[in-house]
Amino acid sequence: MARVHPEIYFFGGGAAEGRAAMRDLLGGKGAGLAEMASLKLPVPPGFTISTKVCTYFYDHGKKYPKGLAEGVAKSIARVERALGRKFGDSKNPLLVSVRSGARVSMPGMMDTVLNLGLTDESVKGLEEVSGNGRFAWDSYRRFCQMYGDVVLKLKPEDKNDRDPFEEVIERKKASRGVREDTELSADDLRELVSEFRDLIRNRTGHDVPQDPHEQLWAAIGAVFDSWNNDRAIAYRKFNNIPGDWGTAVTVQSMVFGNLGSDCATGVAFTRNPANGEKGIYGEFLPNAQGEDVVAGIRTPLQISLKAGRAWAERSGVSEEERAARYPTLEENFPAVHKELLKIAQRLEHHFRDMQDMEFTIERGRLFMLQTRAGKRTAEAAVRAAVEMTEERLIDRRAALMRVEPVQLEQLLHPRLDPNVAKQVIARGLPASPGAVYGEVVFSADEAVVVHQAGRPVILVRHETSPEDIHGMQVAEGILTARGGMTSHAAVVARGMGKCCVAGCSALEIDYAAGAMKVGDRVIHCGEYITLDGAAGEVIAGRVPTVQPEMSDFFRKFMKWADQERRLGVRANADTPTDARVAREYGAEGIGLCRTEHMFFAPGRIEAVREMIMAENLEQRTRALEKIVPMQREDFVAILREMEGKPVTIRLLDPPLHEFLPKDDDEIRKLADSSGLDPERLRQIRNSMEEFNPMLGLRGARLGISHPEIYRAQARAILEAVSELRNEGVKAIPEIMLPLIGERKEFDLLAADIREVAREVASRNGGKLPYLIGTMIEVPRACIEAGPIAAAADFFSFGTNDLTQMTYGLSRDDSSRFLDDYLTRGIYKKDPFQELDADGVGDLMRIGIERGRKAKKNLKIGICGEHGGDPASVKLCHRLGLDYVSCSPYRLPVARLAAAQAAIEGRKSKRGEFKDV
Ligand code: PEP
Ligand code: MG
Repeated sequence: MARVHPEIYFFGGGAAEGRAAMRDLLGGKGAGLAEMASLKLPVPPGFTISTKVCTYFYDHGKKYPKGLAEGVAKSIARVERALGRKFGDSKNPLLVSVRSGARVSMPGMMDTVLNLGLTDESVKGLEEVSGNGRFAWDSYRRFCQMYGDVVLKLKPEDKNDRDPFEEVIERKKASRGVREDTELSADDLRELVSEFRDLIRNRTGHDVPQDPHEQLWAAIGAVFDSWNNDRAIAYRKFNNIPGDWGTAVTVQSMVFGNLGSDCATGVAFTRNPANGEKGIYGEFLPNAQGEDVVAGIRTPLQISLKAGRAWAERSGVSEEERAARYPTLEENFPAVHKELLKIAQRLEHHFRDMQDMEFTIERGRLFMLQTRAGKRTAEAAVRAAVEMTEERLIDRRAALMRVEPVQLEQLLHPRLDPNVAKQVIARGLPASPGAVYGEVVFSADEAVVVHQAGRPVILVRHETSPEDIHGMQVAEGILTARGGMTSHAAVVARGMGKCCVAGCSALEIDYAAGAMKVGDRVIHCGEYITLDGAAGEVIAGRVPTVQPEMSDFFRKFMKWADQERRLGVRANADTPTDARVAREYGAEGIGLCRTEHMFFAPGRIEAVREMIMAENLEQRTRALEKIVPMQREDFVAILREMEGKPVTIRLLDPPLHEFLPKDDDEIRKLADSSGLDPERLRQIRNSMEEFNPMLGLRGARLGISHPEIYRAQARAILEAVSELRNEGVKAIPEIMLPLIGERKEFDLLAADIREVAREVASRNGGKLPYLIGTMIEVPRACIEAGPIAAAADFFSFGTNDLTQMTYGLSRDDSSRFLDDYLTRGIYKKDPFQELDADGVGDLMRIGIERGRKAKKNLKIGICGEHGGDPASVKLCHRLGLDYVSCSPYRLPVARLAAAQAAIEGRKSKRGEFKDV
C-alpha cells in the first residue's frame, strides 16, 4: 500500500513501513514495533508519527506539517480495516494507545494515553464485545482519568499531593464500604465516569470529547508537549540527550491484559539484566493492564519456573505456597510461555543483542508490544557480551563495543566484608549490585540535603518515580518497598550504577512520621542502614565493605580489550597500596605519583609545612631531613610493587592553599613539631597567602626558588633505586618536573637531578637508571614543546592545569558559574571532566607535533583526570599518545575506551563503521 504521509509509518499484518534502523525517526518503540511486524510476530497494528513532526511542532508554534491530519485519518482507517473494528463504534469499537518514544529510552518521563476511543457510545460496544460490563466501564473510567491527568494536566506536580481522581475513587470505595478498586461494581464505575467528567468540567471548563478523532489529536499534542515537561528536560540534561531530537508518537490498537484470568501483561528479558545469565527472565501480572508491572503497584510473578523457585527461596516462601499463590507463566500459560521463548530467541538472534520485551496476553493470545536492547548492569553487560561472542552471535570487536566503558566502574564497587557479622532486617529484590551504607531519608529533597552536608545517604521510598531522580542521583543506594526487577527504581538505579534493593515488602514506611517499620523495629530518618544490592539485603547499621573480586567473564573481556588497544594504560598512584590496586586492575606502570600527596597522612603534613615555610636554608634543610627518609621508604615500596614497570614520580608541586596551615590548631601542631615560634609561623603563613593559589609558588617554581627541595627528593628517589638494585629488584624511575613552561627551567632543574644521581651512584657504586621528563600543563609548554623535547626524556600532559590555564578558569572555584555555562549551552561538557577537543586538544596536538619533531621517539602520556574519561581517552588515542594514566578504579574504563578507540579508528579508516 502507498504511504499516506512521508512522516507516518504504518505497521501490522506482517508488514511495516519502518525498520529497526530508523530509530532516530521512529523512536525506540516505533522502530522495534516496525521490525517485529516485519518479522511477522504478533503485533497489534498501528502507526508511528516521526520525531521530525515533533521538531516541526516546536519550530512552528505547535502546528503540524501539511497533510498530517489526512494522513492520521487514513492510518486510523487502515487500522480499522485490519481489525474489522471502527473508531467510536457502538458495536465493535477500535481503541488505541497513544505513546511517546524517543530514539533513546527515557523511562517514565513522557506521557501515554491508553484506551483512547472510548465514548458514551463506544463503551456500550466494548461492553458487548467483551461481555464484561465491569471491564468496559473500568476502561472508560481509566481513560477519563488519563485524559484529565495527561491531556488536561490535572495530575499534581508534586507526587506527594493526591491525584484528584484517586480522591474521588477513595470516596466511592468508602461509600460502598469496600477496600479494593476491584470490589467496585460496573454501576459504581459508571458513576465514577460521570463524577470524573464533572470534576474535569469544573476544573478545566472542558469535557472529555465524545469524538474519538478529537481525543486522538488532543492526546498526540499532549505527547509532543510532554517532550518539554520539566522531568523530561531534567532527564535529558543529566543524560546528555539533545533537546532537538524530539519524540515520536506511536498510535497502536489496544489489546487487553485485564479481561479476566486468561489475560496478563508482562515484561521479559532474553538474559537476566542483573547478572547476564542466559535464559528468559521477567515478570508478569495476571489480569492487569499496561503499566501495572513497571509501576510496581502489585508484586509481579515470575515467568520461568526456575526463576519462580529462586524467588520463593529468597523470599522465604515454601514451594507449596509458591505453586499455589505465585504460579509462574510457565505453569499458568504453558503454550504462551513456549511461544514467548521462541519469539525471544528469534528477536535476540535478529538484533544480535539482549532484548527487553513487553507483551500482553489477551484471552490466551500473546501480543508483542515492544522490543529494545535491554538495559543491564555492568556485570550482565560483560557476561552477555562474552557469552554472545562464544555463541557466535557477535564477534569480539562487537562485544567490546557493546559495553559502555563507564559502566565497568560498577564492577569494582565494594562488597560487604564477609568476615563481619551482619544483621539482616529485611530482604527485597537484588535490583542493582554494590554494597553501601548511609543515613535513611524518605524523600529526594532530604537526600540532597544530607548529601550536601557530606554524609552518605540511602533513599527509601514506597516506589520511586521520575520526580525522585535528583535524590537518586545523590544517594549511595536506593531501597523501595514495592515493585519488581523492572520497576522504575530498579531500572534507573541499574542505569546509574547505583546499589538498589527493590520490592522489600516487609517495610512499612510512614512518610509523615519520617520512619519505617520492619517487624518490631522502627528506623527513623537519619539512622544508618546498609544495603547489599547483589543479595537484596537490608542490614541494620553500618557494615564495612571489601573490594570486589573479578569474574572470569570480566577477565576474559578485559583481555580482549587489551588485545585490541594501542594506547598504554597507567595509573595515578601515590602510595604502595594504590600501586597494588593499580596492578590488579591492569596498570602497565604508574603515570603519576604526586609526591606531595604522600604527605596527606596525619603526622606527615607538618614536615612539608615546615619545609614550605622555612625562612632560611638551615631550617629548610632540617625539614628536608625529616622528609627524605619518609619519601625514600615510599619510593622503595612503590617501585618494588611495580617490579620494573615504569614509575613516573613527579617532584613536589604543592598548591600552597592546600598545604599552608589554616587555623590556630594547625599552627600549634606545626610549632610543636618544628620547634618554631607560633606567632612567627602565623606571620609567615599570612605573608605566603596567594590570591590565586593555582598560579603561584608551585611546581618548577618551587624547585627554582629553593633548589634544595628537588635535590632532596631526587636523592630520596635515587637512593630507593639503589637500595632495590642491591636487592636485585629492577626499578626505573621517570622523574617528572611539574609546571615547566620554559626550556631553561627544565635545564637547570635537570642538571641538579643529574648531579645528585652522580653523587648517589658514586657513593653506592655503579650507574643508576632513570629518566627525566616533564609535565606539559602550561600552554606555553605546548608551544615551546620543540626545545623542551630536545632536553626531556618524556612528556606527560597535565590536562587539569592545561585546561584551567587554557580557559583561564580556576580549578577550585569555577564550579560556581560553570553550571550556568553548561545550562546555557556555552560549554557542552564540563571541560575538567571531558577534554576540550577543540582548544586544549589542539594545544596538545601542537605539543605532540613539535615535541616529536624534535625527538622522534619521545614518549608522551597524559596524567590529568581526563585519563579515565572514555571520550577523552578516545581523543588521546586519535592524538597518538603512548599512554593514558588514571586513578586505579578507572583503569578498566580506560582500557575498554582505548580498545573502542582502536576499533572505531580501524572501522572508520575502512569507512564502514557501524554497529553489528
Ligand atoms: C594536571 O595538572 O593535570 C596534573 C595531573 O597535575 P595536578 O592535578 O596535580 O596539578
Ligand atoms: Mg598540574
